[in-house]
Amino acid sequence: MSFERIREKLNILADAAKYDVSCSSSGSKRSNTNKGLGDSSGMGICHSYTEDGRCVSLLKILLTNYCIFDCAYCVTRKSNDIKRAAFKIQEVVDLTINFYRRNYIEGLFLSSGIFKNPDYTMERLVAVAKKLRLEENFNGYIHLKSIPGASDELMREAGLWADRLSVNIEVPTISGLKLLAPDKKHEDFTKPMLKVKTEILQYQAEKKVIKSTPKYAPAGQSTQMIIGATGESDKDIMYSATHYYRKYHMKRVYYSGYVPVAEDNRLPAIGTQVPMLRENRLYQTDWLLRFYGFSVHEILNDKHPNLDVEIDPKLSWALRNLHYFPIDINTADKHLLARVPGLGMKSVSKILKGRKFRKLNWDHLKKIGVALNRAKYFILCDSRYWERRDLQAAQIKGMILQNSQGKFRSTHSAQLSLFN
Ligand code: SF4
Repeated sequence: MSFERIREKLNILADAAKYDVSCSSSGSKRSNTNKGLGDSSGMGICHSYTEDGRCVSLLKILLTNYCIFDCAYCVTRKSNDIKRAAFKIQEVVDLTINFYRRNYIEGLFLSSGIFKNPDYTMERLVAVAKKLRLEENFNGYIHLKSIPGASDELMREAGLWADRLSVNIEVPTISGLKLLAPDKKHEDFTKPMLKVKTEILQYQAEKKVIKSTPKYAPAGQSTQMIIGATGESDKDIMYSATHYYRKYHMKRVYYSGYVPVAEDNRLPAIGTQVPMLRENRLYQTDWLLRFYGFSVHEILNDKHPNLDVEIDPKLSWALRNLHYFPIDINTADKHLLARVPGLGMKSVSKILKGRKFRKLNWDHLKKIGVALNRAKYFILCDSRYWERRDLQAAQIKGMILQNSQGKFRSTHSAQLSLFN
C-alpha cells in the first residue's frame, strides 16, 4: 500500500471521525510496563480538553466510513454520496505506532461505520487494540467505540485492551431514535452498556481480592447525545443523561450540538447554526448534577423544560429560589455554599478552610476567587453591606447580564428557537 493511499484514507477517515466528541481520555491509570510504548496516565483529549482542563492528542479515526445503516443525522450513512475508505487492522496499528514514535499522539480513539454486521466490525476494532497491546507493547491510551448490537463476548474482550469504551446513543429519546435511525433498536445500545458496567463492577470486586486481575476498561464507559437534531427539550436530554449515569455508571455523557449534514425534512436545514450555547448550558447542568449536589428535577421540570440560554443553570435556579438566600458565607454548610451562583467547588472548599481562622469579608472572598459580580446578590459575609436589598429576580438577572462578558452572549443560535 502506497504512502499516498494511506494518506488519502487518513484524510477521509479522520474527517469522518470529527463529529464524535466523546473522546476524553482522563481517568485511566495504565502505566508503562515492560519497557513498552506510551503511558496513558496523565493524559487528556485529542483536540479537546479533559475533565481537569488538560489537552492532549489522540489519533482519532474511523476504521471505515462504509456503513450498512442509514441514520439520518450521520455523514457516514449509507445513502450519503461520499468518498468511502477502510483501513486494514495492521494499517491502524502501524499508524498509531508511527505517530506515537514521532510524538504526534499519546493514544488512539477508534470508531467505525458498520460493515457487514456489528460483530464483524467490533471484532476488527478489538483486533487493533489487542495487536497494539500484545504485539507492540503499547501502553498509551486507547478509546474504542463499541458498535451498537455487538455481542457480549466482544464487549468483554474490548474492555481487556481498551482504557475506555463508549456506545453513542446519539438520539436522546426512543421516539427520536425511531424517527432518525430506524435500523437501530434501543437495546442495541443498552445491552453493550450493561455488559461493560457488569464487567467493570466485577473487575473492581475481583481486584480487591486478587491484585493481578486483568484490567477492564479502567477509564470506564461514556456516551454521546446529539443536541438539536430532534425536538427534545433540555429536560428530556438531562433526564435521559441522568438515567444513563445511574443505570450504566457512565463516566461521562457528552452533548454534541448537531451539525447539519443532510437535506432531510426530519432535521434542521443545512446552514442552521450549531447550538453551541445550548450545548454549553447542558454541560453546565451536567456538572451541577455530578459535583454540586443538584437533582435534575430542581433544574429542569414540567414548568421549566428548557434551560435559560442567557444565564447559567445555577443562577437560573437561584433566581427561581430566592427564598433560600441570602446565605451567610461564615456559617452555611457545604451543600448550601455549593448552590450560590459564582461559587465553584474550589472556592467552597477554600471558604470552609478559611473561615476556621477568621470571619470572611468581601476582600477575602475576592482573593479566594469568588465571582462576586454574581455571588454578591445571594450572600452575607462579615460586612453589613448586602447587594440584593429588595430586588426582584428579574432585576438581579438584568443587572448581572448588564455586567456580563459571557463569551456566548453574542452567538445565540437560531437553531434554539426551532423547537420552542
Ligand atoms: S450506524 Fe453509526 S456510522 Fe452508521 S450511519 Fe448510523 S451513526 Fe453513522
